[in-house]
Amino acid sequence: MKISFKIKLLTYVSVLFIMSCKSSQDKISNKDKTVVSKIQTPEKPNILVILCDDLGYSDVGFNGATDIITPNLDALANGGTVFTSAYVAHPFCGPSRAALMTGLYPHKIGAQFNLPPNSGETIKKGISVEETFISKVLNNAGYNTGIIGKWHLGSNAEFHPNVRGFDDFFGFLGGGHNYFPEQYRQAYKNQKESGKKLIWDYLHPIEHNGKDVEETEYLTDAFSREGVRFIKDASKTKNPFFLYLSYNAPHTPLEAKEEDLKLFAHIKDKKRRTYAAMVYAVDRGVKEIVIALKKSGQYENTLIVFFSDNGGKTSAGATNNPLKEGKGSVYEGGFRVPMFFHWKNVVSAGKKYDYNVSALDLYPTFARLADAKIPEGKRLDGKNIWDNFLQNQDNHKNDNIYVLRHRNGFSDVGVRNNEWKAVKAYQQKWKLFNVDNDLGETNDLSDKFPNILKNLVVEAATWSESHIQPQFWHDEKTGIDWKDDKMPRFDKTFQLD
Ligand code: CA
Repeated sequence: MKISFKIKLLTYVSVLFIMSCKSSQDKISNKDKTVVSKIQTPEKPNILVILCDDLGYSDVGFNGATDIITPNLDALANGGTVFTSAYVAHPFCGPSRAALMTGLYPHKIGAQFNLPPNSGETIKKGISVEETFISKVLNNAGYNTGIIGKWHLGSNAEFHPNVRGFDDFFGFLGGGHNYFPEQYRQAYKNQKESGKKLIWDYLHPIEHNGKDVEETEYLTDAFSREGVRFIKDASKTKNPFFLYLSYNAPHTPLEAKEEDLKLFAHIKDKKRRTYAAMVYAVDRGVKEIVIALKKSGQYENTLIVFFSDNGGKTSAGATNNPLKEGKGSVYEGGFRVPMFFHWKNVVSAGKKYDYNVSALDLYPTFARLADAKIPEGKRLDGKNIWDNFLQNQDNHKNDNIYVLRHRNGFSDVGVRNNEWKAVKAYQQKWKLFNVDNDLGETNDLSDKFPNILKNLVVEAATWSESHIQPQFWHDEKTGIDWKDDKMPRFDKTFQLD
C-alpha cells in the first residue's frame, strides 16, 4: 500500500509540475482536473460526518475560542483544511438537517419549519419520502451506513432512519434530548404512571434500530461510545462506511457532567460554563473516535467532515464572534458555521479554504467520492466541490447562496454572492454588505451599490418561486397564523423600497 501510494504521489507531483508550466490555472481543461483528482483521491473512502447542534462559530479552538478547549477537534482541524466561509442551508435545526440529507433547500420540500415535539404521535409528518437521502445513495453503493444521535426528520415508521438508508440507528427521533439517563428515565416513568398521554420526547427512551435501550451514560458519551462501536463493526467488513455522528450537544437543555464543569471553573457565567463543558464532552468523544479509526486501520482511508447544523444560540451560552447574531438569524452568525475536512495524505494539512461552500454541496460531493449513482432526475442545489477544493479553487464563483427563514407574518432573507451579501431582516429595508471586508455586517453599502443589491434581490425572488408551502410547523399556532397571514407574501419580501 505504501509503495503504491508513493507511486501515486510521484505521478501527482509530475502532473502538478506539468500544470504549473501552463501560463494560467484558468487554462487547465476539465479533463486535466479530472486526471489530477482521480490520481490524488483514493476510491470509496469511509465518510464520517461529525455534526454538532447549535455550536457557535467561535466556540472551537480552531476558530479562535480561548475559554473553551477542544484539543482533539483542533488536532483534526490542524491536520486538515478549515473552511472559513461554510454555510448551512437554514439557521435552525430541522430544515438544516433535511437539507444535508436531501441536498435541497428545505423550502423546496416543504421542510422550512422544525417538526413539532412528539410529531410521531401528533401530526405524524416527516421529510417527504419522495426524496432520496444521501444515506440511501451511499448504502446502494455498498456502504455500511449508520446514524448515531439526533434525527429530527420524522418519527413515524415511514420516516425512520432505518428506512431512509441507514443500516444502523442509535439515538432519538425528535429535535433534542435530556442528557442524564437517571433523570430523564425517572421523569418519563413518573409522567407515564400519572397517566399523562403525551410525554415530551426529550424524555423518551433512547433507541437502537427501533428498540428501546436502557442507556446509562451521559448522552454525549453514549453517542461517542456507539460511534466507536459502529466503526469497529463496520471495519470488520470489506465495505466502506458512512457514519453520521449527529450529536445533539451543545443544544439545550444545558446539562454537563461535574468532571467537565470543573475544567471550566474559570468561566463565571453559568450558562457559558455549562455550554463549554458540553462542547468539551463532544471533543472528549472525538478523541475516542479517532483512536477507534486508528486501531481498526481506517484512519487514513476516512474523510472526516466536522460542522454545526446552525449558528450558536447566544442566549444559551454560545458565541459566534466576529459574526453578527446567531441561531435563527439570516445574518452570518445564524448560518455560517465552523467546519473542517480531514483526510490524512489527501486533504491538505494546516490549510484554510476561504471560498464559499454550502452544506448542500456535501450530497453530490459524497456521491462522487463513493462513486455512487444519484437517482435519475434527483434535484440537487449544491455541487460536487471535491476537485476544486483540492486545488483551492472557488466552487461558487458568481453563485448565490441563500438563506430564508419565515417569521410571524414576514420573512428574513440573505443572499451571499462572492464578497457580497444582501440582507432583509426584521421587516427593515434591504441592506448590502461586503462580507469579505466587513465580516460583522456593520457597514450597509446599499446606497453605494444599488445595482448589485437589486440584482441579488431579483435573483432571490426568482429562487423563491421554487418554494412550496410548508408541510408542517413547529407548533399549531404558527400553522394557523401562516394561513391567516396568507404567507409567504413574497411580493412584500422582495420589494426594494
Ligand atoms: Ca441546531
